[in-house]
Amino acid sequence: MQKVRTRIAPSPTGDPHVGTAYIALFNRCFAQQHGGEFILRIEDTDQVRSSAKSEQDILNALKWLGLSWSEGPDIGGEFAPYRQSERSALYSAEILKLLESQHAFRCFCTAERLQDLRVKQMGEKSTIGYDGHCLQLSAEEVANKISRGEEHVIRMRIPEAGDCVFNDLLRGEIRIAWQQIDMQILIKSDGLPTYHFANVVDDHHMRISHVIRGEEWINSTPKHLLLYQYFGWEPPVYCHMPLLRNTDKSKLSKRKNPTSIGYYRDMGYLPEAVVNYLGMMGWTMPDGQEKFTLKEMTASFDLSRVSLGGPVFDVTKLDWLNGKYIRENLNDEQFANLFAEWAFKPEKVARIIPLLKERVERFTDVAPLAAFFFAGLPEIDATRFEHKKLSQEDSRKILQFILWQLEQLRGFDRDDIEAACLGLAETLNTKIRDLLFPLFVAISGKSTSTSVIDSISILGLDITRARIRYAISVLGGISNKEAKAFEKEFRELGQASDKQLTND
Ligand code: GLU
Repeated sequence: MQKVRTRIAPSPTGDPHVGTAYIALFNRCFAQQHGGEFILRIEDTDQVRSSAKSEQDILNALKWLGLSWSEGPDIGGEFAPYRQSERSALYSAEILKLLESQHAFRCFCTAERLQDLRVKQMGEKSTIGYDGHCLQLSAEEVANKISRGEEHVIRMRIPEAGDCVFNDLLRGEIRIAWQQIDMQILIKSDGLPTYHFANVVDDHHMRISHVIRGEEWINSTPKHLLLYQYFGWEPPVYCHMPLLRNTDKSKLSKRKNPTSIGYYRDMGYLPEAVVNYLGMMGWTMPDGQEKFTLKEMTASFDLSRVSLGGPVFDVTKLDWLNGKYIRENLNDEQFANLFAEWAFKPEKVARIIPLLKERVERFTDVAPLAAFFFAGLPEIDATRFEHKKLSQEDSRKILQFILWQLEQLRGFDRDDIEAACLGLAETLNTKIRDLLFPLFVAISGKSTSTSVIDSISILGLDITRARIRYAISVLGGISNKEAKAFEKEFRELGQASDKQLTND
């Protein structure tokens, strides 16, 4: 029998997401339960949105949680490299096979033609997707176009009729009509693969036996299975886990819940409690006990115990569990050590001291001034934001705009943050002092404190984001209508980069 090999395959395009840790946890437990391997592969085919920082953050976050892997970009392994951007030669070789067998074809359609096609399909209310135009090109025409250096992509053929039927380990038989499946681009015009192609090629070459991933990938599975069929490869077993949800049952989103693992670390949760909580997402221990270690979960793991009802990621429940860990698992000495380690990281303290030194006369002045560096959300109400020039709506808007600016930053040094704020003040034609006022309150809970720019840089994006979002909610929150208007204005100001604004 094939050895069990599972993987987590994050795309390094943002913060390390709790959803990634949740899927990693189940993959790891499954592999260990079967004496197999759990590996980590970085899927950085989207060169614009991927970053080395995000990759490092994801690796650090998973390590912090103790979800270790036995092969990966940091430790190598038999099937190295484990970063897709370093595996281009393999994808170039594999695509030739599909071109030869005519399961894939070159498509020279221009962006304009595709756009017109889309508009037409929308008008006709027919399925949106590529119409196979370039399938009609003769081999000669294709060769001529290539010799003229015409830009093109490579797409996969899709059957015109019938259904793709496959078995999901948790869901049983799934049937999806081929008509709903687009002729997926496999290789982009720059010669690099798309997610779908690289993912299948790598799962095969890395001998992945079970693909355990989020349910958002169900509709991609027919394309993946078809690629296995085209290549004549044995497909892995697929298992689509239920998505994590907000307490209102909508898909877990930053707007309603912090989703970055870094947030939970910086807020002072214990990694064991976070992993335990993720283990409770759609899964229960056979004896129903709620507090369990990773080791215990691995020992009693059984994928068939996963329930498909959308698991709710409820921070209040996590707080309760974390409190239990603190009280039941830590003696006073351990508490003291872990607290000191969390609070007084030498590099953090070294950055805070110069800010405090300018402002204190006695050591007793330190704690009140520095408390917000070690706290979660400040105790504030809307009156704190009263300002002679800014209405509540202005403050909400400024805070949302600053947050979008910060989320688009690649670096998080004080100079990056300062430049972002100054740039925003200029485009909004607002004095920097006024612009920074609501930010001061949101971050420090006061109207004056140590430099807010420096403070944000020290606190990091996760805590900053949580405080800005909290301040916005204290100021009445942003309705969907207002969010749309803000986003439009922000884009019109030319402040939005290619990166998506995270409104979800
Ligand atoms: N790179 C994909 C992601 O970011 C992996 C999906 C899969 O597991 O196939 O989630």
